[in-house]
Amino acid sequence: MALLSVADALARVLEHARPLPAESVPLLDAMGRVLTDGIAARRSQPPADVSAMDGYAVRAADVATVPASLKVIGEVPAGHPFARPIKPGEAARIFTGGFLPDGADTVVIQENTTRDGNVVVINASAPPAKNVRRAGLDFRTGDVLLPASHRLTARDLALAAAMNHPTLPVHRRPKVAMLATGDELVAPGTEPRPGQIVYSNGFAILGLARSEGADTLDLGVAPDRVPETVAAIRRAREAGTDVLVTSGGASVGDYDLVQDALKEEGIALSFWKIAMRPGRPMMHGRIGDMHVLGLPGNPVSAYVCAVLFLIPLLRRLSGRTDLTLPEEQARLGCDLPGNDEREDYLRARLEQDEAGRWIATPFQTQDSSMLAPLAQGGALVIRGPLAQPARAGEPCRMLRLAV
Ligand code: AMP
Ligand code: MG
Repeated sequence: MALLSVADALARVLEHARPLPAESVPLLDAMGRVLTDGIAARRSQPPADVSAMDGYAVRAADVATVPASLKVIGEVPAGHPFARPIKPGEAARIFTGGFLPDGADTVVIQENTTRDGNVVVINASAPPAKNVRRAGLDFRTGDVLLPASHRLTARDLALAAAMNHPTLPVHRRPKVAMLATGDELVAPGTEPRPGQIVYSNGFAILGLARSEGADTLDLGVAPDRVPETVAAIRRAREAGTDVLVTSGGASVGDYDLVQDALKEEGIALSFWKIAMRPGRPMMHGRIGDMHVLGLPGNPVSAYVCAVLFLIPLLRRLSGRTDLTLPEEQARLGCDLPGNDEREDYLRARLEQDEAGRWIATPFQTQDSSMLAPLAQGGALVIRGPLAQPARAGEPCRMLRLAV
């Protein structure tokens, strides 16, 4: 297979990815998720004419000439509608949110009144509907205010609640399983023996998956042996995994290990090499409905591949349409040499100048094993295939890293 461009590889990853089926979840669980159906209001808001202020509900005609003395016949706090209509010459004490009693058509704010026992003197006239929120001002029964395919914000949750929906239909969360491979890997907090290193990839990948709203399953580390790798792949399938991510077992020499295990499980391979750096040995395929992303073992390569391919895949499965991180422009903080035929993703320190513009300075050492600059960097500067040498101060393309 020839080396694929990043864009073509992404198209292949997404080719068979469809938004996951709907499930109905309580409002808070729907935060950040995507609606499968439009949501119509089950009630009007406000449901009746209500007062927008504390004051007196009156008949506008009674206060056309002021001062006007009216008889106070009761109180209308929010939540306690008043049973009897207001007749000429009468008023009701009313509070914000109180339903306007029948017969009353306007509200005089309390600052414009003087109270004396059960008589109130109205000192300023009010036209009809003053300080009144009309029934249906906000929305009416049947209004579709949240369309299908919309990604829910906190404001939307409040609106859905006000529309009287305790649950919402959203695309199911993708389930991501992570399998690290390597005889040398031990868990953080253990004492590595000679030849061993502490594994880190799973934390970046699953952390990123969670921030994209996925459910995660950590399959731990498989040794560099096919049977154990096959067993882990089966565990992923049994757990109903939508996306299995593997890391390692993919450099020249032990290529066959992860790929052999996946082949034993019947993977339909879409590609296994991309014209990018870091991350050339990256693989995608499907076992049944389960997507498999085979990431390189080097931590930076694994992370960059996850940013470029796992994020869009998870977003597509979640029903989102904003699949990739937005590409932004920065100015280079240093000179760069020309690029070869592989698209380059340079780890870069990100700063802002006095005018607030981004300055991205790629680190001198771009080694795909180095986590410290990756964590401290904040951006990936993108260098297209065969990009010309560039000088400090020239514009460049970049992805800002938020996770
Ligand atoms: P591999 O693709 O398995 O040859 O791995 C390439 C490099 O990445 C090797 O130096 C591995 O030790 C390292 N590596 C592989 N997996 C991990 C991991 N989960 N965490 C940290 N380093 C890893
Ligand atoms: Mg390995």
